[in-house]
Amino acid sequence: MQMRWLKNNRALRDAFVLAILGTLILSLAIVFDFHEHLDNFLHSHEYMQMDEIYDAINIMGVMALIYAVRRLIDQKDEIRRRNQAEANMDWLANHDPLTSLRNRRALESSERMLQDRDKDSHHVIYSIDLDGFKKVNDLVGHQGGDILLRAVAHRLQSILPDADIFRLGGDEFLVLAQRPAHMNCLQIGKHIMQTLCVPYDVGGMTSEIGASIGFALYPEDSADFNDAVHCADVAMYAAKKAGQNNVYAYERIMEHRVMRRAETEMALRRAIRDHVITPYYQPQIDLKTGRVHGFEALARWQTGPAQYVSPADFIELAESAGLIVELSDNLLRQACLDALQWPDSVRLAFNISPKLFIDRQLGLRIMTILAETGYPPHRLEIEITETALIHDVDAAVHILRGLRETGIRIALDDFGTGYSNLSHLSKFQFDKIKLDRGFVISFEKDTKQGDIVRAIIGLGQGLGAVTTAEGIETAQQLDFLKALGCDYGQGYLFGRALPADQAKERVQEAADKPTDHHSAA
Ligand code: C2E
Ligand code: CA
Ligand code: CA
Repeated sequence: MQMRWLKNNRALRDAFVLAILGTLILSLAIVFDFHEHLDNFLHSHEYMQMDEIYDAINIMGVMALIYAVRRLIDQKDEIRRRNQAEANMDWLANHDPLTSLRNRRALESSERMLQDRDKDSHHVIYSIDLDGFKKVNDLVGHQGGDILLRAVAHRLQSILPDADIFRLGGDEFLVLAQRPAHMNCLQIGKHIMQTLCVPYDVGGMTSEIGASIGFALYPEDSADFNDAVHCADVAMYAAKKAGQNNVYAYERIMEHRVMRRAETEMALRRAIRDHVITPYYQPQIDLKTGRVHGFEALARWQTGPAQYVSPADFIELAESAGLIVELSDNLLRQACLDALQWPDSVRLAFNISPKLFIDRQLGLRIMTILAETGYPPHRLEIEITETALIHDVDAAVHILRGLRETGIRIALDDFGTGYSNLSHLSKFQFDKIKLDRGFVISFEKDTKQGDIVRAIIGLGQGLGAVTTAEGIETAQQLDFLKALGCDYGQGYLFGRALPADQAKERVQEAADKPTDHHSAA
């Protein structure tokens, strides 16, 4: 064993051979009185300065020895530094520098390790996605966001000190833990969620986030580790879809839902490409005159005879699948062309998804479509919800200001359902506030709601904005809203969303007929 080691180590082998050779030469020198002979020779050749040459050779030998030792030390240092650099590179390749947690590449190595060596062990995989991190990041800045992510990593490590914890992306984490037979994975998942929800101190500011967690069991849910990670992700998406702060165990049925969603996404992609999704138009009535003041374009996707998919279902899908820009542009272009057929006094109201509000080019895109179709900006009203205004306030202010400068009006949609406060809303200038349907439904039974509606209308007036009430279904609701001073109304009482040709007929009829409030279609 030792001999083999000697064989493999060249430096040691050389030292060994040289030591034997040296000992041999020394033995021979002793046996043959080499030193005495040399001494005599040096004496007898004093005139040739042989003793000085001998000294010089000796000194050179000692110096060479010192030199060799020093180079050896240098070499050792160099090797140590190189090993350190390699270790650093290796660490960087497998870790996230911000949190010091392992990264996706390290997860792939874990996969190989588990499949090759730990075949019989049982693990649980938690897929964790933070809720509301982006909002906190916007509020406290990127440095604050970094502090929060480090705190999240620290909390995860303190809950499961023996687990492997990975940061896979911005606010995506994965925990891989050994699973003893008695382990309650759901309970631990909930504990992780609750721990992550405890407020964070970010540079003196308190920030709160949520977490959506899905988990899968390896090898029970899948004997393929990669697949098992995918299962945990599927469970996490299901948890996220159910609202924030949920912990879901993977179930096979979730896979079907994901597949169905993928199929719908493909159908949606085709429908957008083929312009199958078209705008319908719901009348908006001037409550003082009873005339059609405008139409709100509402997207309709017809899938069969009298069969429609509601935008509530496909707009969200278009947003998450990155199709919303194309869909929105198509709809606006079509809506402008349809609206050109209406009298000049009738406006087009068009919904803009909050997802579009992060794009500073939004105003430019809208203006390009108006220019292409020849639709005048002052006849267009953009409906936006509060969600559009909280992600990137600066971008939203910039976009809205640009749009208003061209003459486009801005309506705040679904007012009363958002979470932003008034001081936040006061940063923006609105032309119209649309009172959410929820108020209109309940205010007859609830006098407090009536007071709130009155206050909102007053608030709108104070901000220089008019008010539209949505979802008016009964004559009583209409009378009440009129008495409160609401300017415009919209709802089934006046008509549902109509296809373009019927909307055109509706305004033509209305132009011929004078005031008629209750002419529901
Ligand atoms: P929204 O902008 O608040 O639109 C009003 C919704 O209320 C419409 O549903 C409309 O059909 C419905 N509605 C109108 N009057 C009444 C009523 O009296 N009673 C009841 N119960 N409902 C009424 P719809 O068309 O299903 O649209 C749902 C949401 O989808 C819209 O809410 C809007 O946020 C979004 N949406 C629709 N079309 C578009 C679009 O072209 N682009 C974008 N980004 N979003 C759209
Ligand atoms: Ca709307
Ligand atoms: Ca609305």
